[in-house]
Parts: sequence; structure tokens; C-alpha cells
Amino acid sequence: MKIITNAKSLMTLYKDYRTMTCEDLEDFYQSKCDYYQDYVGISLIAGAIVSVTYIFSDYFLNGSFLPTLIPRFSILVVLFLFLIITNFFKSRGITVFIDYVLGHGMVLATIWSIYHLNIKVHASEGFIIMNLIFITLGFVSRPREIALSSLIFILEILISNLFNHYENLEIIIALQIPCAIAVFCSHCLLTLVYLDHYRVQQKLELAMVTDPLTQVYNRHLLEKIVTKNALIDAKEPVTIAMLDIDFFKQVNDEHGHYTGDLTLLYMGQMLSKQTHEDDYVIRFGGEEFIIILKDCDVNNACARMEQFRRDIEVSKDTPVPFTISVGISKYTGDFAKTIQNVDHALYKAKNSGRNCVVVV
Ligand code: GH3
Ligand code: MG
Ligand code: MG
Repeated sequence: MKIITNAKSLMTLYKDYRTMTCEDLEDFYQSKCDYYQDYVGISLIAGAIVSVTYIFSDYFLNGSFLPTLIPRFSILVVLFLFLIITNFFKSRGITVFIDYVLGHGMVLATIWSIYHLNIKVHASEGFIIMNLIFITLGFVSRPREIALSSLIFILEILISNLFNHYENLEIIIALQIPCAIAVFCSHCLLTLVYLDHYRVQQKLELAMVTDPLTQVYNRHLLEKIVTKNALIDAKEPVTIAMLDIDFFKQVNDEHGHYTGDLTLLYMGQMLSKQTHEDDYVIRFGGEEFIIILKDCDVNNACARMEQFRRDIEVSKDTPVPFTISVGISKYTGDFAKTIQNVDHALYKAKNSGRNCVVVV
């Protein structure tokens, strides 16, 4: 049955959520916020503007626009602050905080307006409508932020009762509590559904930069590194190496394409094993690999690549015996120029009889 399947997949998502580290959770909620903030921002702006038009319903209760004019228009000051801050700050913490400031600003403007109403019996409808704002705010929030905000909302009602003296406080609270629980539960559900979307997105992003044959990165990642100039700020030395299998065409011709593919897969696996976690191993082309060695100077890179070359040369586990040539160059801050240098070094290695490491 569909409902059981859905419940099972929600349980799986919940287990996944429970095993996330603090860092994973931060990234997940930042992603959720980035995804929904435009919707939340526009809804809040619309909500703030609409809340000003309540002066018309105030008019029907008071017979005049004047008493609630300032309280109703006061939300525009908060809206102005909201527009400035959301324009300059993109971090989730500040974004969510200012979203809630505008949301609760609407509650406080309403409470202030109620203070100036002759008939306060309709406050309960006003507070119920406010829940629409908190449903919207939940899209960018963590469940605990929603719970805290609901608690603050109830406190705002209780404290304002000291001077507003609501005629039906019990009814307001009796309606407000189930609304707060419903908003909280619906957003716990939404968080799990967004986790599903987030995981699919992560898989797609990884597939985009992974070479399907060798399981190392592909040129898409290299383009990302180049366009973002991701290495420019590296404080430690960065060295780039280009590896090419010698006479690989012969491997294909003599042992078949399938063995050629297994040889490439072996290279990818060996490189991944022998490099450090924050190095990048990239399949640059057919049988050429680029390795970005972080926090590694040229001498160190040379020693590591020489060791790797020797390991491959004497390995008994390769699908067929083969050797590699390696070109190495220091990263200069200009990625394209460094690749030219590495390519030149590899060219020299090939011209020096192959199966060697050359530095330029
Ligand atoms: P050199 O020592 O000068 O590098 O000679 P080479 O034969 O290795 O170089 P060449 O550029 O002449 O040939 C590269 C070969 O790599 C040709 C191509 O068929 C093969 N190749 C490229 N991509 C793949 C692949 O994905 N799988 C297999 N099996 N072969 C591939
Ligand atoms: Mg080759
Ligand atoms: Mg080649």
C-alpha cells in the first residue's frame, strides 16, 4: 500500500537525518534555506504589506482610521530593515533571524493595533491568521527554531494580555496550541522530504564531476576549480602532476579494449589510494590523469610520483604490465600556465624514453 511505502521511506529518511553530523546538518539547512528563502522572502513582504490594509477592518470596529494608523504602518519600518539586511547578508543564521524578526514584527504590530481597538473580540481571528506567517517561516527553519518561535508567539499573546485584556484569552490559547503543534509537525515532515531532494542533488552533483570508468574526478571538476580559481588562496605550496600511460594504444591493440578499460580502472584506484584526502585526482583525457597535490612542494611531489611510477612498474596486480610517464610543475597561481608547464614536462618525459618523472 502506498501509505506504508511512504511511511517506510520517511523512516529511512529519519534514520539518515539522525546520523548526520553537525557539519552535515549545517550544510543541509543552508541548502534548504537557499532553496526556499526567495519564496519565504516574497511571502513575508506580501504579508507585511497586506497587514497594513487591516486598517480597513480596524475602521469598521473603531469608526476611524486614526487610532491604528501608526501601529499598522509601523511594520513598514521593520520591512525596510528586512529588505536592507537580506540584501547584504546571505548566511542562514542572519537570514532566518531577520525573517523571524519580520514575522514577529507583524505579530507585535497587530498586538499594538488591538490595543487601540474598541472591540477586541476579533483578536482570536487575527492571531489565527498570524499562523500563516509561521507556516511560511518554517520553510527556512530547523524544527527547533519553529518550536522556539511558536513558544515566543504564545508568550507575546500572554504578555500582551496584561494591557490588551483580551475578552476571550482561553479561546485564543486553545486555538493557538494545536495550530503551533500542526505547524511544527508539518515542518518536521517537510524537512524529511527536503532531505530526500538534498540527497538526490548531492548524488547528481557528484555524478557530474566523477568519471564513470575510473571513479576519479573528471574534467568538469577541473573546470570548476579553474573558473572558481579555487587554488589561488592556498597558503601552502601546491604542485600539479600529469600522468600518462606509456604505449596504451598497444595495450588496447594487443589485449583488447576491455583490458584497456581495466587498466584505466586500476590506475584510478591506485591513484585514489596513494593520494591524500584533500588532493584531487582527475581523469584529464583518455589515459591521462592530472593530480593536484595540496600542501606539497615540488621535491615532495617528485618523490611521491617517482614512488608511484616504480610501484606501477613492478606491480603484479595490474591487468597487464605497463609503465607511466609523469610531468610535474609547481602551481604558479595561474592554472592555465601551470597546465602548460606540466604538459611540457610530460612531453619531455615521453621524449626521454618514457617510464620516468620530469619536473619543469
Ligand atoms: P604514449 O606512450 O606516447 O602516450 O603512447 P600511447 O599509445 O599511450 O598514446 P596514444 O595517444 O597514441 O593512444 C592513447 C590511446 O588511449 C588511444 C585510445 O584508443 C586509448 N583510449 C582513450 N580512452 C580510452 C578508454 O576509455 N578506454 C580504452 N580502453 N582506451 C582508451
Ligand atoms: Mg599514453
Ligand atoms: Mg596520452
